[in-house]
Amino acid sequence: MADQALRQQRKSATYATLQTLTPPQPGKSDIAIYDDQNQWTVNVQLIRGPDDPPVAAQNANLAYDALTATRKFYHDVLGRESIDNAGLTIDGNVNFGVQYDNAFWDGSEMVFGNGDNVIFKDFTNDVDVPGHELTHGVTQYTAGLGYTDQTGALNEATSDIMGACIDQYVSGQDAGTFNWLIGEGVMADDLYGEAIRSMAHPGTAYDDPLLGKDPQPDSMAGYVPNGDPHVNSGIINRVFYLIATDLGSFPAAKLWYATLQNLWPTAVFADTAHVASEMARILARDGVVARQAPQTVRAAFHEVGIS
Ligand SMILES: [Zn+2]
Repeated sequence: MADQALRQQRKSATYATLQTLTPPQPGKSDIAIYDDQNQWTVNVQLIRGPDDPPVAAQNANLAYDALTATRKFYHDVLGRESIDNAGLTIDGNVNFGVQYDNAFWDGSEMVFGNGDNVIFKDFTNDVDVPGHELTHGVTQYTAGLGYTDQTGALNEATSDIMGACIDQYVSGQDAGTFNWLIGEGVMADDLYGEAIRSMAHPGTAYDDPLLGKDPQPDSMAGYVPNGDPHVNSGIINRVFYLIATDLGSFPAAKLWYATLQNLWPTAVFADTAHVASEMARILARDGVVARQAPQTVRAAFHEVGIS
């Protein structure tokens, strides 16, 4: 979510995991929370195990609830059993490192920093953060999208897309009422009102002396060749926003999930437009999404300059 070193780390972690993947054992999709006690390592001390009642530490409970909500969204809306679709136990880590300004999925663990309280506060404070990070795990197990250029932007956008849908699932909202902001709940007090990204209007999430101005483009006119996946993902985020606005967020999530399962590790924007249109036809025929879905999908990609 934030720095270059971390992204590199995630990239290696993703590929390493793919290469050494052992066949998943059927699991119960359990949730377990560890307190890393401000060390730079994970799984230091188990503080809330599967089905345990709430504990004293607020961020451990927020993490437990957010991971539970993510698992439930994938199960109830998309019919998926945990991240690997085989009931993988989801381990969450709170209090990782010291004033660590990030949260990440390392290929097998969800890790939350406390934030430095200048830019970010504790990363357990917004459900779209773990929703985003755990979706990197789902992507790893499905399309296996890489992490460079358009492919990387698709990987990033898919995480924002599902993170936003999980946020709506938890708060009982839909496309018309949701703010389509990512991470507004983890901004430090001095940055109240800002967010990490805006899916409805990429490029408008923040503009202040501390962070500068949001660099996301909202169409191919602003596409940065070989750019940071967190920048170009704005183009795809806006595509999803347009689709969700017409079809509803959860039908749109089903469409995106079907698309993800039919993409491949080097897929680019045009591939996604093609596969999403095909999925729209199939899902419309089956009554999963509205009849106009193929036109909605084509129009959304067309609007941002992808065809
Ligand atoms: Zn990400």
